This record gives sequence, C-alpha cells and structure tokens, in this order.
Amino acid sequence: MRDRILLCKPKMSGRELDFIKAALAEDWAVPMGPDCNAFERELGEAIGTEHIVALNSGTSAVHLALIAAGVKPGDEVLVQSFTFCASANPVRYAGATPVFVDSEHGSWNIDPDLLEEAVKDRIAKTGRRPKAIIPVALYGMPYQIDRILEIADRYSIPVIEDAAEGLGSRYDGKVLGTFGRFGVLSFNGNKMITSSGGGALVCPDEDTRRTVMWYATQARESYPYYEHQVIGYNYRLSNISACIGRAQLKVLDEHIAHHRHVQALYRELLKDVEGVTLHENPSPRYDSNFWLCTATLDPDLHVRGQEKAYAETLKGAVGGAAGVVHAAAAPTTDCQPNANVEALRMALDAASIEARPLWKPMHRQPVYSDAPAYVNGVSESLFAVGICLPAGPYVTDDDVRYIVDTIKDAIG
Ligand SMILES: *Cc1c(COP(=O)(O)O)cnc(C)c1O
Repeated sequence: MRDRILLCKPKMSGRELDFIKAALAEDWAVPMGPDCNAFERELGEAIGTEHIVALNSGTSAVHLALIAAGVKPGDEVLVQSFTFCASANPVRYAGATPVFVDSEHGSWNIDPDLLEEAVKDRIAKTGRRPKAIIPVALYGMPYQIDRILEIADRYSIPVIEDAAEGLGSRYDGKVLGTFGRFGVLSFNGNKMITSSGGGALVCPDEDTRRTVMWYATQARESYPYYEHQVIGYNYRLSNISACIGRAQLKVLDEHIAHHRHVQALYRELLKDVEGVTLHENPSPRYDSNFWLCTATLDPDLHVRGQEKAYAETLKGAVGGAAGVVHAAAAPTTDCQPNANVEALRMALDAASIEARPLWKPMHRQPVYSDAPAYVNGVSESLFAVGICLPAGPYVTDDDVRYIVDTIKDAIG
C-alpha cells in the first residue's frame, strides 16, 4: 500500500534543527527573540518588502490588520465570500460586520464590479463607508489587485490582502501582500512553507509596524508597572517557531517551483480528460504559486458511485480537525458539492489520495446567515463543481500520474 498522498504535507528543509539548536544553546525559547527579528528580515528579503511583524497565525494577522486599520465595533468590512473562515472570523472578533462579496469567473476571487456595487450600496444604506476590503488569493491565485486598489482608493478604504495561500504569487510581476495597506501571510502546517504554525503581517510603514507589534504583545503602556489603556493580544510568534520559519525560507523558491511543476503535469495529463477542467491563470498578468491545484467537474460527468454519494453521515472530520469531530446531524446541508464531486473525493480517498471540496462560500455558512452579501452565483456554482488536488512538496511526478489515473478510472 502506498503512503497516503496529502494535499500539502509540510516538508522540512533539513536546516530546522540547526536553527533550533543554535537558539536553544542561547536559551532563546521565549515568545520573542532574535530569530523572530531575523525571520521578519529574511521574509522581507524573500518577498521584496519590509515592515513585517511575525505573528502566531495568519488569523491573528487578519485580526491585527483590522485593528490597525481602525475597524471598530459596529463597522462594516467587505470580505471575499469565497474563502476559508479565517478571512472573515476576525471581523467578528473585532465586533464588526463582514459584508460578503462574490467572485469573478476568471480568478475565482473577489469580483471588482460587484465590489464597487457593494461599496456604493453600503454607503447608500448605512451612510458610512466600509472600513476595509479583504480580497483573498484563493489557492494562491492572484486577485485583480489593480482594479481593487483603484476602487479602494477612490472611496479611501484600506485594502487588507489575504495572501495566506498566495505566498510568492505575483500579479503584474509584483508579489502579493505588497500591494494593499496590509498583507497577510500564513505559515500554518499545510501552507507553502511552515513555521509549525505562524503568520505575518506586512505593514505599510515602520510606525504601523510598531503599533501592530505593540498590540501583539498585550498593548502595555510605558510605566514600571503593567498599565493598559486598550485591549491587546498575545499574538507574537514563538522564537522556536521562527527558527523553523527561517529554515523553511531557504526552500521557499524550491517549494513554489515544485507546486508550479505539479500544476504543469496535471495540465499535461488532464488535457484530454473530458469533463475535468484544471483551474489556470486566467491571463499572463496572473502568476499563481498553485498552493493547491484545483479542478472543476462538468455536472454531466458521471463518476462511479455517485448514486451513493452522501448516503452516510461522515464519521470522521474530513481532513481531521485536530481529531475533534463535531458530529453532523445529517449527511448534507442545503448547499454542497455535486454528487459526482463527492464520489470522486471518495474514490481518491479509497486510493489513499487526499482531495477536498473548494471552500464553501461564507455567505452560505450558517454562522454568517445574517451577514449582508453581494452575490452573483459564481462562488456557489464553483463550490458545487470544484475539487482540490494534492500539490505539496512531497507529491512526485509518479504520484500525479497515479492521481490522474485514479480520476480516469473513476469516470471510466
Ligand atoms: C490559512 C489561511 C488563513 C489563516 O492562516 P492561519 O495561519 O491558519 O491562521 C487565512 N486566510 C486564508 C485564506 C487561509 O487559507
């Protein structure tokens, strides 16, 4: 039996222990230390920017970006609906309301026309401007950042780029996370590189960087005793995690090249498979890192076993959420991928291949059922037909051939 092929299993560079040993030899096992500073500097060099704060997660980075952008309870924030919950949840942490905006067909990311309509309509309805705009680089694919920035500037709304999945992706040759007022990055275990959990916020200047750092370390005032005038957070990256991040930066370019190579191989092998369409850069302006390779299935494509898809309530969490399962009441909800997509996921699973549906749009999540949403049907229709395929550093050419053969088998 072959090893299970995971979507994006983290791969160490071989240098992690050297960094950790050096830090421990100097007793730097604290939440802040010289490796955090070095990681920030080296990350900045890797993506050609500065004013970076290393944090304990990408989610914290979204949260602190909102706070630094002045988002207060009662405010509204425009968020791409087609995303992982971490793009939207921090809006609620801040006591604000997410207003969801649907996607465009090409990039699968926030639709600039709909975004502008949403801005105008929120101003008309509430008399106030939304306080931030959060586009998301879904699976690494860039958003139309030039148009988003043009709209944002026209209405003086700061852009917080959620580039958690898009480390190293480029639009017009420029790296994501460096266009907006803030850029969010993630080094969670399954991202392009890992710090065993961690994230970073790219800030516009040194003053803002210091403010964010201050909020990330409990917002203490300068007195000999602990004086607090605002609520702070404990969001700083651990020095040991920074050691892992530093070692991983050494293989960032290699990892990105590998993900692009895997995408190219899927392209080659899937090109004659009718009914399966690989998601690609919509034009040469986009340069995705292809964090995950994704494909859509023609609704008419028959996949073996689709009649029995969703027949049973799942016993284990798909992908395993820390081994903690919130038992589902029924096999499905009122919005899920088509039966052929679920059947393909099951066929791949049976062949020891991890695959999963696309992110379920936030405007269809029960937890956000009361949030305003500007919808065009694109994210929901993609959710119905899309599937994520393995692309990580451990995925070999042979694995990709095996995955595509398994797909062909399932639809044969
Ligand atoms: C992973 C991810 C985040 C959050 O990163 P964590 O480090 O896991 O907190 C935010 N947004 C998106 C789109 C992500 O995929």
